[in-house]
Amino acid sequence: MEKVLEVIDLHVSFKTYGGEVKAVRGVTFDLYKGETLAIVGESGCGKSVTSQSIMRLIPNPPGRITNGSILFKGKDLTKLKETQMRSIRGADISMIFQDPMTALNPTITIGEQLVEGILQHKSISRQEAKKVAFEMLDLVGIPNPHERFKHHPHQFSGGMRQRIVIAMALVCKPEVLIADEPTTALDVTIQAQILDLFKDIQKKTGVSIILITHDLGVVAQVADRIAVMYAGKIVEAGSRREIFYQPQHPYTKGLLNSVPRLDLEGAELVPIAGTPPDLFSPPAGCPFTARCSYAMEVCDRAYPFKTHLSQDHHVDCWLQDERAMNRLTSVK
Ligand code: SF4
Repeated sequence: MEKVLEVIDLHVSFKTYGGEVKAVRGVTFDLYKGETLAIVGESGCGKSVTSQSIMRLIPNPPGRITNGSILFKGKDLTKLKETQMRSIRGADISMIFQDPMTALNPTITIGEQLVEGILQHKSISRQEAKKVAFEMLDLVGIPNPHERFKHHPHQFSGGMRQRIVIAMALVCKPEVLIADEPTTALDVTIQAQILDLFKDIQKKTGVSIILITHDLGVVAQVADRIAVMYAGKIVEAGSRREIFYQPQHPYTKGLLNSVPRLDLEGAELVPIAGTPPDLFSPPAGCPFTARCSYAMEVCDRAYPFKTHLSQDHHVDCWLQDERAMNRLTSVK
């Protein structure tokens, strides 16, 4: 499969009065053409910082990409000037945020906002841009697009507003769409409609999607592959089937045990006890040690090696590493 984006050993930190927060600590993943990669984890695990780094939207200061590269079309996005990034943002890589109201200008009609977005990146006439805008509104399922074009954001429901935000993100036909908690602010029925819309759009346009979410129900519906993040690292990644049916990292298992399952009658929800580590001074060993019921002595001392279980499935956990026993003796 064709790779459209490569994130290699990405590190992102934030300088604060209390010290440096190491929010992303060596994240590596690929995104392939036409797939949906879900990045999941608790709040503060670094998933949104990772996606904002791809868009170079981390405010500097206090944030900074301290190491790593983000390769897109042969260019390292971490090295581009802001002016070069502006031509990529919105045109080649687009982003959808959680709350559609913050992404839309309440004082301008949605049609005008769409047309402005198109004209920023494409040298076409206003009339042609309007035609593209109508097509996009139609694509995302806004009924009567010619009429709705003249309406302001407050004249739409929450679900319709999110459809408009999706139309705005797709208007320049990007290769990568990053959706950061796109359904969290919506009720469950509208959420299902928006997820169907993502699948439909992907089929029609071939866009690659990075879905950032804490909701495993959402992931189960749309993801092809899943990366599980914890304390700034991807601790397990694999196909949807591998993560849901053969999870290997105790944190992934904990996440799955803490969501309601309709297929398991009478199954109890088991929360993950404890809290994530302080990222001002992250532990040298496995960051899940304090919460892990399988933790061994080595876990606290050294970060586990990556174990590859299949082409897509890998996990960072000493339980999977046959060298764990040697490591026990060799680590001082
Ligand atoms: Fe638990 Fe150790 Fe595996 Fe970390 S490395 S998840 S502490 S067993």
